[in-house]
Amino acid sequence: MIRTREEYLKALKAMRPNIYKFGELIEDVTAHPATRKAVEAHARGFDAANTEAEKEIFTTTSSFTGKPIMRHTSMMTSLEEIMANSRLKRTMYRKTGTCTGGFCVGWNAMNVMWAVTSEMDQEYGTDYQERLKQWILHAQETGILVAGALTDAKGDRSLKPSEQPNPDSSLHIVEYREDGVVISGCKAMICGVASSEEIFLLPGSGYKDVDKDYALACVVPRDINGLTIIECRHASDGRDLEEGSFDAPETGVTQAYLLFDRCFVPRDRVFMAGEAKYSGKVITYFTANYRACIGACVAGQGDVMIGAGVLMARANGLSIKPFQDKMINMAVNNETTYAVGVAAMAAGKPHASGPWISDSRLAHTNKIHVATLPYETKRLCQEIGGGIVETGCFPSHKDFTDPKLGALVQKYVKAGKDISAETRARAARLSEWLTLGGGVPGCMHGGGSPDGAKMVVHGTTPYEEFAEYAKKVAGITEEVRDPVKPKK
Ligand SMILES: Cc1cc2nc3c(=O)[nH]c(=O)nc-3n(C[C@H](O)[C@H](O)[C@H](O)COP(=O)(O)OP(=O)(O)OC[C@H]3O[C@@H](n4cnc5c(N)ncnc54)[C@H](O)[C@@H]3O)c2cc1C
Repeated sequence: MIRTREEYLKALKAMRPNIYKFGELIEDVTAHPATRKAVEAHARGFDAANTEAEKEIFTTTSSFTGKPIMRHTSMMTSLEEIMANSRLKRTMYRKTGTCTGGFCVGWNAMNVMWAVTSEMDQEYGTDYQERLKQWILHAQETGILVAGALTDAKGDRSLKPSEQPNPDSSLHIVEYREDGVVISGCKAMICGVASSEEIFLLPGSGYKDVDKDYALACVVPRDINGLTIIECRHASDGRDLEEGSFDAPETGVTQAYLLFDRCFVPRDRVFMAGEAKYSGKVITYFTANYRACIGACVAGQGDVMIGAGVLMARANGLSIKPFQDKMINMAVNNETTYAVGVAAMAAGKPHASGPWISDSRLAHTNKIHVATLPYETKRLCQEIGGGIVETGCFPSHKDFTDPKLGALVQKYVKAGKDISAETRARAARLSEWLTLGGGVPGCMHGGGSPDGAKMVVHGTTPYEEFAEYAKKVAGITEEVRDPVKPKK
Protein backbone atom coordinates (compact mmCIF):
# COMPACT_ATOMS: atom_id res chain seq x y z
CA MET A 1 0.00 0.00 0.00
CA ILE A 2 1.14 3.56 -0.70
CA ARG A 3 0.70 5.30 2.60
CA THR A 4 -0.03 8.94 3.39
CA ARG A 5 1.39 11.11 6.17
CA GLU A 6 -2.06 11.17 7.81
CA GLU A 7 -2.35 7.36 7.87
CA TYR A 8 1.14 7.11 9.32
CA LEU A 9 0.53 9.65 12.09
CA LYS A 10 -2.82 8.03 12.98
CA ALA A 11 -1.15 4.63 13.35
CA LEU A 12 1.57 6.05 15.64
CA LYS A 13 -1.00 7.79 17.82
CA ALA A 14 -2.87 4.50 18.33
CA MET A 15 0.16 2.74 19.84
CA ARG A 16 0.62 1.91 23.53
CA PRO A 17 2.88 4.53 25.13
CA ASN A 18 6.10 2.81 26.26
CA ILE A 19 8.79 5.43 25.50
CA TYR A 20 10.36 7.53 28.27
CA LYS A 21 12.62 10.58 28.21
CA PHE A 22 13.93 12.53 31.19
CA GLY A 23 11.86 10.14 33.34
CA GLU A 24 8.59 11.14 31.63
CA LEU A 25 6.32 8.71 29.73
CA ILE A 26 5.68 10.07 26.23
CA GLU A 27 1.94 9.72 25.62
CA ASP A 28 1.95 10.77 21.95
CA VAL A 29 5.17 10.53 19.92
CA THR A 30 3.69 12.68 17.15
CA ALA A 31 3.23 15.64 19.50
CA HIS A 32 5.85 15.34 22.26
CA PRO A 33 8.79 17.75 21.75
CA ALA A 34 11.31 14.91 22.30
CA THR A 35 10.01 12.79 19.43
CA ARG A 36 7.83 14.88 17.12
CA LYS A 37 10.70 16.14 14.97
CA ALA A 38 11.90 12.62 14.24
CA VAL A 39 8.32 11.68 13.36
CA GLU A 40 8.12 14.76 11.09
CA ALA A 41 11.35 13.66 9.36
CA HIS A 42 9.89 10.22 8.62
CA ALA A 43 6.52 11.69 7.57
CA ARG A 44 8.31 13.55 4.76
CA GLY A 45 9.04 10.17 3.17
CA PHE A 46 5.32 9.44 2.96
CA ASP A 47 4.68 12.91 1.51
CA ALA A 48 7.27 12.17 -1.19
CA ALA A 49 5.69 8.79 -2.00
CA ASN A 50 2.51 10.64 -2.93
CA THR A 51 4.10 13.13 -5.31
CA GLU A 52 4.50 12.66 -9.05
CA ALA A 53 8.12 13.86 -8.91
CA GLU A 54 9.35 11.43 -6.26
CA LYS A 55 6.99 8.46 -6.19
CA GLU A 56 9.43 6.50 -8.35
CA ILE A 57 12.04 6.76 -5.55
CA PHE A 58 9.71 5.99 -2.65
CA THR A 59 7.40 3.36 -4.15
CA THR A 60 7.68 0.24 -6.29
CA THR A 61 5.79 -2.96 -7.12
CA SER A 62 5.71 -6.03 -4.90
CA SER A 63 7.61 -9.00 -6.30
CA PHE A 64 5.10 -11.21 -4.44
CA THR A 65 1.74 -9.64 -5.32
CA GLY A 66 2.42 -7.24 -8.20
CA LYS A 67 0.69 -4.49 -6.18
CA PRO A 68 2.12 -0.99 -5.57
CA ILE A 69 4.05 -0.84 -2.29
CA MET A 70 6.29 1.50 -0.32
CA ARG A 71 9.88 1.01 -1.55
CA HIS A 72 11.16 0.43 2.00
CA THR A 73 9.14 -2.80 2.23
CA SER A 74 10.45 -4.25 -1.04
CA MET A 75 12.77 -7.13 -1.86
CA MET A 76 16.05 -5.95 -3.40
CA THR A 77 16.99 -8.66 -5.89
CA SER A 78 18.77 -6.67 -8.60
CA LEU A 79 21.49 -4.05 -8.78
CA GLU A 80 18.86 -1.52 -9.78
CA GLU A 81 16.73 -2.35 -6.73
CA ILE A 82 19.57 -2.08 -4.22
CA MET A 83 20.73 1.18 -5.80
CA ALA A 84 17.20 2.45 -5.23
CA ASN A 85 17.90 1.98 -1.50
CA SER A 86 20.90 4.24 -1.82
CA ARG A 87 18.95 6.84 -3.78
CA LEU A 88 16.10 6.84 -1.25
CA LYS A 89 18.56 7.43 1.60
CA ARG A 90 20.32 10.35 -0.08
CA THR A 91 16.93 11.87 -0.87
CA MET A 92 15.72 11.46 2.72
CA TYR A 93 18.85 13.14 4.07
CA ARG A 94 18.36 16.04 1.67
CA LYS A 95 14.79 16.43 2.98
CA THR A 96 15.59 16.11 6.67
CA GLY A 97 19.31 16.72 7.15
CA THR A 98 19.56 13.61 9.29
CA CYS A 99 18.94 9.91 9.75
CA THR A 100 15.49 8.35 9.34
CA GLY A 101 16.23 4.84 10.58
CA GLY A 102 12.62 3.65 10.19
CA PHE A 103 13.04 3.82 6.40
CA CYS A 104 16.25 1.89 6.49
CA VAL A 105 17.41 -0.78 8.93
CA GLY A 106 14.29 -2.99 8.96
CA TRP A 107 14.30 -2.96 5.15
CA ASN A 108 17.84 -4.29 4.98
CA ALA A 109 17.11 -6.78 7.79
CA MET A 110 14.20 -8.41 5.97
CA ASN A 111 16.21 -8.84 2.76
CA VAL A 112 19.19 -10.29 4.63
CA MET A 113 16.97 -12.66 6.60
CA TRP A 114 15.38 -13.87 3.35
CA ALA A 115 18.83 -15.16 2.35
CA VAL A 116 19.71 -16.56 5.80
CA THR A 117 16.33 -18.28 6.33
CA SER A 118 16.68 -20.04 2.98
CA GLU A 119 20.07 -21.45 4.08
CA MET A 120 18.72 -22.47 7.51
CA ASP A 121 15.60 -24.08 6.04
CA GLN A 122 17.80 -26.14 3.70
CA GLU A 123 19.99 -27.40 6.54
CA TYR A 124 17.42 -27.84 9.31
CA GLY A 125 14.13 -28.38 7.41
CA THR A 126 12.64 -25.36 9.24
CA ASP A 127 9.91 -23.10 7.81
CA TYR A 128 11.53 -19.77 8.69
CA GLN A 129 11.36 -18.33 5.18
CA GLU A 130 7.62 -18.95 4.86
CA ARG A 131 7.05 -17.17 8.19
CA LEU A 132 9.20 -14.27 6.99
CA LYS A 133 7.27 -14.12 3.72
CA GLN A 134 3.97 -13.77 5.58
CA TRP A 135 5.43 -10.94 7.67
CA ILE A 136 6.83 -9.18 4.58
CA LEU A 137 3.38 -9.39 2.96
CA HIS A 138 1.96 -7.71 6.08
CA ALA A 139 4.65 -4.99 5.91
CA GLN A 140 3.91 -4.41 2.21
CA GLU A 141 0.16 -4.36 2.78
CA THR A 142 0.43 -1.74 5.55
CA GLY A 143 3.54 0.26 4.54
CA ILE A 144 4.75 0.29 8.16
CA LEU A 145 8.09 1.72 9.25
CA VAL A 146 10.43 -0.83 10.81
CA ALA A 147 13.47 0.10 12.90
CA GLY A 148 16.29 -2.46 13.08
CA ALA A 149 18.22 -3.49 16.18
CA LEU A 150 21.46 -5.44 16.13
CA THR A 151 23.57 -3.61 18.72
CA ASP A 152 23.32 -5.04 22.23
CA ALA A 153 24.31 -3.19 25.42
CA LYS A 154 27.05 -5.92 25.45
CA GLY A 155 28.56 -5.26 28.88
CA ASP A 156 32.29 -6.05 29.18
CA ARG A 157 33.63 -6.01 25.60
CA SER A 158 36.28 -8.64 26.40
CA LEU A 159 33.69 -11.28 27.40
CA LYS A 160 31.23 -13.39 25.40
CA PRO A 161 27.51 -12.82 26.12
CA SER A 162 27.22 -16.02 28.18
CA GLU A 163 30.32 -15.04 30.23
CA GLN A 164 28.90 -11.65 31.26
CA PRO A 165 28.09 -11.10 34.94
CA ASN A 166 24.77 -9.77 33.62
CA PRO A 167 23.46 -12.25 31.02
CA ASP A 168 20.87 -9.68 29.93
CA SER A 169 23.62 -7.36 28.60
CA SER A 170 22.71 -8.79 25.20
CA LEU A 171 19.19 -9.65 24.08
CA HIS A 172 18.55 -13.40 24.29
CA ILE A 173 15.98 -16.17 24.42
CA VAL A 174 15.07 -17.10 27.98
CA GLU A 175 12.36 -19.64 27.11
CA TYR A 176 11.72 -21.76 24.00
CA ARG A 177 8.02 -22.60 23.63
CA GLU A 178 5.97 -24.50 21.05
CA ASP A 179 4.15 -21.28 20.17
CA GLY A 180 7.14 -18.91 20.19
CA VAL A 181 10.02 -17.59 22.30
CA VAL A 182 10.36 -15.40 25.40
CA ILE A 183 13.16 -12.81 25.21
CA SER A 184 14.97 -10.57 27.72
CA GLY A 185 17.87 -8.13 27.62
CA CYS A 186 18.88 -4.86 26.01
CA LYS A 187 19.41 -3.50 22.50
CA ALA A 188 21.13 -0.10 22.64
CA MET A 189 21.46 3.05 20.49
CA ILE A 190 18.71 2.06 18.06
CA CYS A 191 17.76 4.68 15.51
CA GLY A 192 14.25 5.78 14.57
CA VAL A 193 12.41 3.64 17.11
CA ALA A 194 10.00 6.38 18.24
CA SER A 195 8.98 6.92 14.61
CA SER A 196 8.56 3.23 13.81
CA GLU A 197 5.76 0.77 14.38
CA GLU A 198 7.82 -2.40 14.48
CA ILE A 199 11.40 -3.35 15.30
CA PHE A 200 13.38 -6.05 13.47
CA LEU A 201 15.69 -7.73 16.00
CA LEU A 202 18.86 -9.41 14.74
CA PRO A 203 21.83 -11.01 16.49
CA GLY A 204 24.50 -8.48 17.51
CA SER A 205 27.40 -10.70 16.42
CA GLY A 206 28.34 -14.11 15.06
CA TYR A 207 28.05 -16.61 17.93
CA LYS A 208 29.28 -20.11 18.78
CA ASP A 209 26.93 -22.77 20.19
CA VAL A 210 27.76 -21.78 23.77
CA ASP A 211 25.95 -18.49 23.04
CA LYS A 212 23.14 -19.99 20.97
CA ASP A 213 20.38 -18.29 23.00
CA TYR A 214 21.70 -14.96 21.65
CA ALA A 215 21.24 -16.16 18.06
CA LEU A 216 17.82 -14.57 17.68
CA ALA A 217 16.01 -12.94 14.76
CA CYS A 218 12.41 -11.80 15.01
CA VAL A 219 10.11 -8.80 14.53
CA VAL A 220 8.15 -7.19 17.35
CA PRO A 221 5.62 -4.36 17.49
CA ARG A 222 7.27 -1.28 19.03
CA ASP A 223 4.67 -1.35 21.82
CA ILE A 224 4.91 -5.09 22.59
CA ASN A 225 4.12 -6.00 26.21
CA GLY A 226 7.25 -6.11 28.35
CA LEU A 227 9.26 -3.64 26.24
CA THR A 228 10.30 -0.33 27.84
CA ILE A 229 12.09 2.22 25.65
CA ILE A 230 14.32 5.03 26.85
CA GLU A 231 15.08 7.83 24.40
CA CYS A 232 18.67 8.91 24.68
CA ARG A 233 19.38 11.54 22.05
CA HIS A 234 19.69 15.10 23.33
CA ALA A 235 22.70 16.41 21.46
CA SER A 236 21.11 19.85 20.99
CA ASP A 237 21.17 20.33 24.77
CA GLY A 238 17.40 20.65 24.86
CA ARG A 239 17.08 23.55 22.43
CA ASP A 240 15.26 21.26 20.03
CA LEU A 241 12.57 20.85 22.70
CA GLU A 242 11.50 24.48 22.64
CA GLU A 243 8.34 24.98 20.59
CA GLY A 244 8.62 27.32 17.58
CA SER A 245 12.35 27.96 18.07
CA PHE A 246 14.76 28.25 15.14
CA ASP A 247 17.58 26.96 17.34
CA ALA A 248 17.06 23.50 15.80
CA PRO A 249 15.30 22.59 12.53
CA GLU A 250 11.83 21.09 12.28
CA THR A 251 13.26 17.63 11.62
CA GLY A 252 15.18 15.43 14.03
CA VAL A 253 16.52 12.03 14.93
CA THR A 254 15.99 9.73 17.91
CA GLN A 255 18.10 6.97 19.43
CA ALA A 256 16.81 4.50 22.00
CA TYR A 257 17.70 1.86 24.56
CA LEU A 258 15.26 -1.05 24.27
CA LEU A 259 14.74 -2.90 27.54
CA PHE A 260 13.04 -6.27 27.03
CA ASP A 261 11.64 -8.00 30.10
CA ARG A 262 10.31 -11.48 29.28
CA CYS A 263 8.58 -10.42 26.04
CA PHE A 264 6.69 -13.20 24.28
CA VAL A 265 7.26 -13.31 20.50
CA PRO A 266 4.83 -15.60 18.66
CA ARG A 267 6.28 -18.34 16.43
CA ASP A 268 5.21 -16.74 13.14
CA ARG A 269 7.41 -13.69 13.91
CA VAL A 270 10.52 -15.69 14.81
CA PHE A 271 13.07 -16.27 12.01
CA MET A 272 16.05 -17.59 13.98
CA ALA A 273 15.99 -19.18 17.42
CA GLY A 274 19.26 -20.70 18.56
CA GLU A 275 20.89 -21.49 15.19
CA ALA A 276 24.25 -19.99 16.26
CA LYS A 277 25.98 -21.25 13.12
CA TYR A 278 23.96 -18.80 11.00
CA SER A 279 24.26 -15.72 13.23
CA GLY A 280 27.59 -14.84 11.56
CA LYS A 281 25.89 -15.04 8.14
CA VAL A 282 23.38 -12.41 9.28
CA ILE A 283 26.23 -10.05 10.17
CA THR A 284 28.13 -10.76 6.93
CA TYR A 285 25.17 -10.11 4.64
CA PHE A 286 23.79 -7.23 6.72
CA THR A 287 27.03 -5.27 6.88
CA ALA A 288 27.77 -5.80 3.17
CA ASN A 289 24.55 -4.07 2.13
CA TYR A 290 24.30 -1.59 4.98
CA ARG A 291 27.86 -0.31 4.65
CA ALA A 292 27.41 0.03 0.89
CA CYS A 293 24.23 2.11 1.26
CA ILE A 294 25.40 4.24 4.22
CA GLY A 295 27.66 6.16 1.82
CA ALA A 296 24.48 7.70 0.41
CA CYS A 297 23.32 8.84 3.87
CA VAL A 298 26.42 10.85 4.65
CA ALA A 299 26.54 12.13 1.04
CA GLY A 300 22.96 13.42 1.44
CA GLN A 301 23.85 15.17 4.67
CA GLY A 302 26.98 16.54 3.00
CA ASP A 303 24.79 17.98 0.23
CA VAL A 304 22.86 19.91 2.88
CA MET A 305 26.17 21.03 4.42
CA ILE A 306 27.30 22.48 1.09
CA GLY A 307 23.94 24.24 0.90
CA ALA A 308 24.36 25.58 4.43
CA GLY A 309 27.84 26.82 3.45
CA VAL A 310 26.39 28.69 0.46
CA LEU A 311 23.73 30.31 2.68
CA MET A 312 26.24 31.31 5.35
CA ALA A 313 28.71 32.81 2.89
CA ARG A 314 25.96 35.01 1.44
CA ALA A 315 24.37 35.80 4.81
CA ASN A 316 27.81 37.00 5.93
CA GLY A 317 27.91 39.37 2.95
CA LEU A 318 30.23 37.35 0.69
CA SER A 319 29.81 35.45 -2.56
CA ILE A 320 30.65 31.74 -2.69
CA LYS A 321 33.70 32.41 -4.86
CA PRO A 322 36.29 32.64 -2.04
CA PHE A 323 35.01 29.27 -0.76
CA GLN A 324 34.97 27.46 -4.08
CA ASP A 325 37.87 25.15 -3.27
CA LYS A 326 36.35 24.16 0.08
CA MET A 327 33.01 23.45 -1.55
CA ILE A 328 34.65 21.32 -4.22
CA ASN A 329 36.36 19.30 -1.49
CA MET A 330 33.04 18.87 0.30
CA ALA A 331 31.43 17.64 -2.93
CA VAL A 332 34.33 15.23 -3.58
CA ASN A 333 33.88 13.76 -0.08
CA ASN A 334 30.16 13.30 -0.65
CA GLU A 335 30.59 11.69 -4.04
CA THR A 336 33.38 9.42 -2.75
CA THR A 337 31.22 7.73 -0.09
CA TYR A 338 28.29 7.58 -2.48
CA ALA A 339 30.40 6.12 -5.28
CA VAL A 340 32.30 3.54 -3.25
CA GLY A 341 28.89 2.37 -2.00
CA VAL A 342 27.59 2.11 -5.55
CA ALA A 343 30.76 0.24 -6.53
CA ALA A 344 30.21 -2.23 -3.67
CA MET A 345 26.69 -2.84 -4.94
CA ALA A 346 27.81 -3.18 -8.56
CA ALA A 347 30.53 -5.68 -7.59
CA GLY A 348 28.01 -7.71 -5.58
CA LYS A 349 25.76 -10.52 -6.76
CA PRO A 350 22.41 -12.04 -5.93
CA HIS A 351 22.20 -14.70 -3.21
CA ALA A 352 20.86 -18.04 -4.52
CA SER A 353 17.52 -17.24 -2.85
CA GLY A 354 17.20 -13.82 -4.55
CA PRO A 355 18.38 -10.82 -2.45
CA TRP A 356 21.29 -8.79 -3.75
CA ILE A 357 24.40 -8.98 -1.53
CA SER A 358 26.97 -6.21 -2.06
CA ASP A 359 30.69 -6.88 -2.26
CA SER A 360 32.01 -7.16 1.27
CA ARG A 361 35.50 -5.70 0.85
CA LEU A 362 34.25 -2.63 -1.02
CA ALA A 363 31.38 -2.12 1.43
CA HIS A 364 33.74 -2.22 4.42
CA THR A 365 36.16 0.08 2.61
CA ASN A 366 33.24 2.47 2.28
CA LYS A 367 32.48 2.26 6.02
CA ILE A 368 36.03 3.43 6.71
CA HIS A 369 35.53 6.44 4.41
CA VAL A 370 32.14 7.09 6.02
CA ALA A 371 33.86 7.23 9.42
CA THR A 372 36.36 9.85 8.24
CA LEU A 373 35.37 11.99 5.21
CA PRO A 374 32.13 13.52 6.64
CA TYR A 375 34.12 14.93 9.57
CA GLU A 376 36.30 16.85 7.10
CA THR A 377 33.13 18.05 5.34
CA LYS A 378 31.79 19.27 8.70
CA ARG A 379 35.08 21.07 9.39
CA LEU A 380 34.86 22.85 6.03
CA CYS A 381 31.22 23.81 6.68
CA GLN A 382 32.31 25.41 9.96
CA GLU A 383 35.26 27.13 8.30
CA ILE A 384 33.01 28.74 5.68
CA GLY A 385 30.39 29.92 8.17
CA GLY A 386 32.60 31.54 10.82
CA GLY A 387 32.46 31.44 14.61
CA ILE A 388 28.70 31.91 14.62
CA VAL A 389 28.57 28.39 13.14
CA GLU A 390 31.47 26.73 14.91
CA THR A 391 30.29 27.40 18.42
CA GLY A 392 26.70 28.42 17.82
CA CYS A 393 27.97 31.63 19.32
CA PHE A 394 25.05 34.01 19.03
CA PRO A 395 21.94 34.72 21.14
CA SER A 396 19.13 32.17 21.31
CA HIS A 397 15.78 32.40 19.54
CA LYS A 398 14.27 33.54 22.85
CA ASP A 399 16.62 36.54 23.06
CA PHE A 400 16.26 37.14 19.32
CA THR A 401 12.50 37.57 19.75
CA ASP A 402 12.55 39.14 23.22
CA PRO A 403 10.32 42.27 23.29
CA LYS A 404 13.02 44.32 25.03
CA LEU A 405 16.30 42.98 23.60
CA GLY A 406 15.19 41.36 20.34
CA ALA A 407 15.58 44.41 18.08
CA LEU A 408 19.11 45.03 19.36
CA VAL A 409 20.14 41.39 18.96
CA GLN A 410 18.81 41.34 15.40
CA LYS A 411 20.63 44.59 14.59
CA TYR A 412 23.96 42.89 15.31
CA VAL A 413 23.21 39.41 13.94
CA LYS A 414 22.38 40.94 10.56
CA ALA A 415 25.33 41.03 8.14
CA GLY A 416 24.86 40.49 4.36
CA LYS A 417 23.02 43.11 2.31
CA ASP A 418 19.39 42.19 1.54
CA ILE A 419 19.57 39.14 3.83
CA SER A 420 17.64 39.28 7.07
CA ALA A 421 19.07 38.67 10.52
CA GLU A 422 16.65 35.75 10.87
CA THR A 423 17.94 34.05 7.70
CA ARG A 424 21.53 34.37 8.94
CA ALA A 425 20.48 32.99 12.33
CA ARG A 426 18.62 30.06 10.76
CA ALA A 427 21.51 29.17 8.42
CA ALA A 428 23.98 29.39 11.32
CA ARG A 429 21.89 27.17 13.59
CA LEU A 430 21.45 24.65 10.77
CA SER A 431 25.22 24.56 10.18
CA GLU A 432 25.84 24.09 13.90
CA TRP A 433 23.19 21.33 14.08
CA LEU A 434 24.66 19.52 11.07
CA THR A 435 28.26 19.71 12.24
CA LEU A 436 28.17 19.62 16.05
CA GLY A 437 24.60 19.11 17.15
CA GLY A 438 21.59 16.83 17.04
CA GLY A 439 21.76 16.31 13.27
CA VAL A 440 25.10 14.48 13.30
CA PRO A 441 24.07 11.07 12.03
CA GLY A 442 26.67 8.79 13.62
CA CYS A 443 29.16 8.39 10.80
CA MET A 444 31.74 6.91 13.17
CA HIS A 445 29.95 3.99 14.85
CA GLY A 446 26.54 3.96 13.13
CA GLY A 447 26.48 0.81 11.00
CA GLY A 448 29.42 -0.56 13.02
CA SER A 449 32.83 0.68 14.13
CA PRO A 450 35.52 1.38 11.51
CA ASP A 451 38.01 -0.99 13.20
CA GLY A 452 35.61 -3.88 12.54
CA ALA A 453 35.48 -2.81 8.88
CA LYS A 454 39.28 -2.65 8.79
CA MET A 455 39.45 -6.25 10.01
CA VAL A 456 37.37 -7.32 6.99
CA VAL A 457 39.55 -5.31 4.59
CA HIS A 458 42.62 -6.87 6.24
CA GLY A 459 41.16 -10.38 6.04
CA THR A 460 40.24 -10.07 2.37
CA THR A 461 43.40 -8.36 1.11
CA PRO A 462 45.79 -10.94 -0.42
CA TYR A 463 49.10 -9.45 0.74
CA GLU A 464 51.18 -12.44 -0.47
CA GLU A 465 49.63 -12.33 -3.92
CA PHE A 466 50.37 -8.60 -4.11
CA ALA A 467 53.98 -9.24 -3.01
CA GLU A 468 54.34 -11.66 -5.93
CA TYR A 469 53.17 -8.92 -8.36
CA ALA A 470 55.72 -6.53 -6.84
CA LYS A 471 58.51 -9.12 -7.04
CA LYS A 472 57.86 -9.76 -10.71
CA VAL A 473 57.77 -6.04 -11.55
CA ALA A 474 61.02 -5.49 -9.60
CA GLY A 475 62.75 -8.55 -11.05
CA ILE A 476 63.19 -10.22 -7.62
CA THR A 477 63.53 -13.99 -7.71
CA GLU A 478 64.49 -14.91 -4.14
CA GLU A 479 61.98 -15.63 -1.34
CA VAL A 480 61.09 -12.54 0.72
CA ARG A 481 59.47 -13.65 3.99
CA ASP A 482 58.63 -12.15 7.39
CA PRO A 483 61.61 -12.63 9.72
CA VAL A 484 61.28 -15.68 11.96
CA LYS A 485 61.53 -14.63 15.63
CA PRO A 486 64.06 -16.68 17.60
CA LYS A 487 62.33 -18.92 20.19
CA LYS A 488 62.95 -17.81 23.80
C1 LIG B 1 24.02 7.53 15.49
C2 LIG B 1 24.01 6.04 15.67
C3 LIG B 1 22.94 5.30 15.17
C4 LIG B 1 22.88 3.93 15.40
N1 LIG B 1 21.79 3.24 14.95
C5 LIG B 1 21.72 1.92 15.19
C6 LIG B 1 20.58 1.16 14.75
O1 LIG B 1 19.63 1.73 14.19
N2 LIG B 1 20.56 -0.17 14.98
C7 LIG B 1 21.58 -0.81 15.62
O2 LIG B 1 21.50 -2.02 15.79
N3 LIG B 1 22.66 -0.11 16.08
C8 LIG B 1 22.75 1.22 15.88
N4 LIG B 1 23.84 1.92 16.34
C9 LIG B 1 24.87 1.25 17.12
C10 LIG B 1 26.12 0.94 16.34
O3 LIG B 1 25.91 -0.16 15.47
C11 LIG B 1 27.24 0.68 17.36
O4 LIG B 1 27.54 1.92 17.98
C12 LIG B 1 28.48 0.07 16.74
O5 LIG B 1 28.22 -1.22 16.26
C13 LIG B 1 29.64 0.02 17.75
O6 LIG B 1 29.24 -0.63 18.92
P1 LIG B 1 29.44 0.10 20.33
O7 LIG B 1 28.89 1.45 20.24
O8 LIG B 1 28.90 -0.81 21.37
O9 LIG B 1 30.99 0.28 20.46
P2 LIG B 1 32.04 -0.64 21.20
O10 LIG B 1 31.77 -2.06 20.89
O11 LIG B 1 32.08 -0.27 22.64
O12 LIG B 1 33.38 -0.21 20.49
C14 LIG B 1 34.16 0.92 20.91
C15 LIG B 1 35.53 0.78 20.30
O13 LIG B 1 36.18 -0.38 20.84
C16 LIG B 1 36.54 -1.29 19.80
N5 LIG B 1 36.28 -2.64 20.32
C17 LIG B 1 35.09 -3.17 20.70
N6 LIG B 1 35.25 -4.42 21.16
C18 LIG B 1 36.57 -4.69 21.07
C19 LIG B 1 37.38 -5.83 21.40
N7 LIG B 1 36.84 -6.95 21.91
N8 LIG B 1 38.70 -5.74 21.16
C20 LIG B 1 39.26 -4.63 20.65
N9 LIG B 1 38.55 -3.52 20.31
C21 LIG B 1 37.22 -3.56 20.54
C22 LIG B 1 35.67 -0.93 18.60
O14 LIG B 1 36.30 -1.23 17.36
C23 LIG B 1 35.51 0.58 18.79
O15 LIG B 1 36.58 1.27 18.24
C24 LIG B 1 23.93 3.29 16.12
C25 LIG B 1 25.01 4.04 16.59
C26 LIG B 1 25.06 5.39 16.39
C27 LIG B 1 26.24 6.16 16.94
